[in-house]
Amino acid sequence: MNAKPAADAATAELLSPDTPTLLVKVFGKDRPGITTGLFATLAEHDVDVVDFEQVVTRGRIVLCALVTAPPRDGALRSEVHQWAESCKLEAEVISGKGDNRPRGEGRSHVTVLGHPLPASAVAALSARITETGGNIDRVFRLAKYPVTAVELAVSGVPTETLRAALALEAAAQRVDVAVVASGLQRRAKRLVVMDVDSTLIQDEVIELFAAHAGCEPQVAEITAAAMRGELDFSESLRARVALLEGLDADVVAKVRSEVRLTPGARTLIRTLKRLGYQVGIVSGGFTQVTDDLVDRLGLDFAAANTLEVVDGRFTGRVVGDIVDRAGKAAMLRRFAAEADVPLEQTVAIGDGANDLDMLNTAGLGVAFNAKPVVREAAHTAVNVPFLDTVLYLLGISREEVEEDDGAA
Ligand SMILES: [Mg+2]
Repeated sequence: MNAKPAADAATAELLSPDTPTLLVKVFGKDRPGITTGLFATLAEHDVDVVDFEQVVTRGRIVLCALVTAPPRDGALRSEVHQWAESCKLEAEVISGKGDNRPRGEGRSHVTVLGHPLPASAVAALSARITETGGNIDRVFRLAKYPVTAVELAVSGVPTETLRAALALEAAAQRVDVAVVASGLQRRAKRLVVMDVDSTLIQDEVIELFAAHAGCEPQVAEITAAAMRGELDFSESLRARVALLEGLDADVVAKVRSEVRLTPGARTLIRTLKRLGYQVGIVSGGFTQVTDDLVDRLGLDFAAANTLEVVDGRFTGRVVGDIVDRAGKAAMLRRFAAEADVPLEQTVAIGDGANDLDMLNTAGLGVAFNAKPVVREAAHTAVNVPFLDTVLYLLGISREEVEEDDGAA
């Protein structure tokens, strides 16, 4: 097959829809040498490979090779079957024409996260995909731990249509689904911006300060009023901070040590940084804590409110403008401009109502263990308490993360 003079013409001819092709499928217990054995057998018949895929699931291999058909395929068929029998494998050789059916217009990647992932959820989601006119072209497992995550390549339906259909079904099935458009943009370097309280960390920082000031119940009451819509974020923040008046600012060191990172936070940030992503935080909480997180986690951007300190004590006021709902979205835009990343390539993660503008401004907004109102308005939701599951939404597999950790 070397040095064909008309290689281009031959290749074009190879893919013509009328070219006879053979689909060779092999199934059985996996062991070293199966791929070599099959292709060595096929090589005896001077055929060319059009497509070739294999998957191993719990020690069983499924290997499919689509090859050009020789003028007479009888000998090839019997040799493939003989070889398969000698390896205790099942084989099938199916005649046909041309290559795989071309993928339809409208291509998306659908990530499904379950903890666990019931078969009934997969049945329901795939039924919705079919109803929207979509086709599942490929499936790949991204993670088995701490969640089961699979990625489906779907074609034939606009991404927005698919996202709307699957968001409803995901909520009904109690699994998390993210739908993103396929294409190079998905692999482009990105900026990830996270909320802090109840997103990057498990705590609400104002409550940690309140505990030291002995005003936890009062703070909780104001938080509840804000949630009922009686106060906006700025009002409620000012009211809560006022309760900290007179508290010794030395308490900052204690509060910093009390902050608990969300499980998976370090893995998420370490992996994103290795991939060349930039990572920022934006918080309605306080720089007294976020500065420390920036140092500990090596973050690129941060914005938060600052508790005013005079003579070593909190005054009960914040310094300057308050980072509120609109402020969070503005910070995302500013970080994106500074990082030179278009907004479509940004990812925002948050749990609260004051994160909504930021989530909707980002290319991908992820509601993280959020309240229903936030979950419904965001592009996608993660309802498992592991922050590194966001990596799967970006198409990064657990295996890749762990290999990278091993190599580091
Ligand atoms: Mg929050």
